[in-house]
Amino acid sequence: MSESHSLRKADKIVAVKGMNDILPPESAVWEALEARVRDLMRRFAFENVRTPIVEPTALFVRGLGEVTDIVEKEMYSFEDRLNGEALTLRPENTAGVVRAAVEHSLLYNGPKRLYYMGPMFRHERPQRGRYRQFHQIGAEALGFGGAEIDAEVILMAHMLWQELGLTGVELQINSLGQPAERNQHRAALIQYFESHVDVLDEEAKRRLHLNPLRLLDSKNPAMQPVIEAAPKLIDFLGDASRAHLQAVKDILDSHGVPYVVNPRLVRGMDYYNLTVFEFVTTKLGSQGTVCAGGRYDYLIEQIGGKPAPAVGWAMGVERVLELLKESGSAPALPVLDAFAVITDVSSLSKVMPALQTLRQAGVSVQMQASGPEGMPSMKAQFKRADSSGARFALIFGADEVQAGHVTIKSLRDGEIPQKTIPLSDMAAWAAGMTSVA
Ligand code: ATP
Ligand code: MG
Repeated sequence: MSESHSLRKADKIVAVKGMNDILPPESAVWEALEARVRDLMRRFAFENVRTPIVEPTALFVRGLGEVTDIVEKEMYSFEDRLNGEALTLRPENTAGVVRAAVEHSLLYNGPKRLYYMGPMFRHERPQRGRYRQFHQIGAEALGFGGAEIDAEVILMAHMLWQELGLTGVELQINSLGQPAERNQHRAALIQYFESHVDVLDEEAKRRLHLNPLRLLDSKNPAMQPVIEAAPKLIDFLGDASRAHLQAVKDILDSHGVPYVVNPRLVRGMDYYNLTVFEFVTTKLGSQGTVCAGGRYDYLIEQIGGKPAPAVGWAMGVERVLELLKESGSAPALPVLDAFAVITDVSSLSKVMPALQTLRQAGVSVQMQASGPEGMPSMKAQFKRADSSGARFALIFGADEVQAGHVTIKSLRDGEIPQKTIPLSDMAAWAAGMTSVA
C-alpha cells in the first residue's frame, strides 16, 4: 500500500476498541505488581514460562470445549494469509502452557510448577474490568494430583492479596467432581431445565443438550431463580471427590484462610474437574472475579500428552490493580535518584561518562537533553529537575565541568547542604547513596 506524502496533517490512528495503552506513570504500578508476583513465585518455586500469543485454533477448541463462551463467541481467530492455517490470539494461557509442556516433555522428569504473565484476547463488550486485550498472571502446577497442591496454589494467591494489602476478597470454592459424576448431574440438569424450558433464553435452549453445565454460569438475570434451584453437582459427588474437597478445606482451615463453599460455582471452560475456586470482590461492580482456577486432570491427556493431573489459576491484572486503587493501597514506586542539569552541550563529552559511572553503581539518573537551540535555561532545567521527583540535582555548569567538578544539590531534604565534588569522586558518592537507599 502506498500513502501520499502530502503536507496535510494525517488522520489520527487510535488503538483498537477495548485494547488499552498502559502508560507511565500507571505502567510503573504494573511493574511493581509484576515484581511482587515474581518474588512470590520464587518463594513457591514456580518457574517462568513464555509461550506464543498466537496458537493453533484447535488448541482452544479442544482444550476449552466447543460449547463455551470463549470458543463460541470471544476468540480472535483468523486464517494465516500465506498458508491458510487456522490461528487464534490466545484467550487464556492454560491450554498454551499445557501444549508447551507436552510438546517439550516437561513432565518427563517429574511434575512442574510454572507461571506466566501476559496479554490475552477476548472479543467481549468492553466495560470496566472487561477488555478485549487484558492481562493475566497465571500459575500452573502440572503433574500433581494431591489436594495439598490445590491448597498450595490457593495459599499462594491468598498470600499475594495479603502482601499487596488487598482487602475484601472472598475465596469461593466448589468441586466439579469427576466425569462419571458429572454425567449423572448432566442428566439431572437436562431433565430439570427441560421442565423449565419456558424461562430459558435462546442460547440456553441451544446449549441444553450440548453442554447443560454451561447454563449454570449464564449471566441472564431472568434465568437466575431457575439456576438457583437447579440440581447441584456437589450432591452427585462420590466419596473420593468429597474427600478431596474436604482435604483442601482442611488445609485452608489449618492456615486460617477463610472461604465459602459455593455449590453454584462452575467455571467457563470444560477442562476443570474436582476443585474449582474464585477470589471475588464486591468492590468492582459485576466484574468481581479477580482470580479463578481449579484442577484440570484430563487436559494434558486431551492435548495429546501422557495422562497427568494438574491444578492452576489465572488472575486478571487489570482487576487486581483496580481493586488496589479502590483499597487505597498502591505499591511503592521507585524514585529517581538524580537529575543532571547541564548548561552547555559542549560539556556532554565529560558529563555523559560521569553519568555512566553513576548508573553502573546502581543510581538512576535522568539527563537533560538539548533542543534545537541547545540546552534550556538553568531556570527551566531546575523546574524539570523538581518535577522529576529526583532526590538530587547534579549541576554540570560550564566552569565546573572545565575544572572537573560537579555540584550536588539536594532537592528533597532541605537540610543537606549543597556541595561540589571532583567528577572522580562520583563513584564514591554513588556508593554512599545506594547504601542509604
Ligand atoms: P468472567 O466471568 O468475568 O467473564 P471468566 O470466567 O471468563 O471471567 P477466566 O477465563 O477464568 O475468566 O479468567 C481468569 C480471570 O481473568 C478472571 O477472573 C478475570 O479476573 C480476568 N478476565 C477474564 N476476562 C477478562 C476480560 N475480558 N477483561 C479483563 N479481565 C478479564
Ligand atoms: Mg468471561
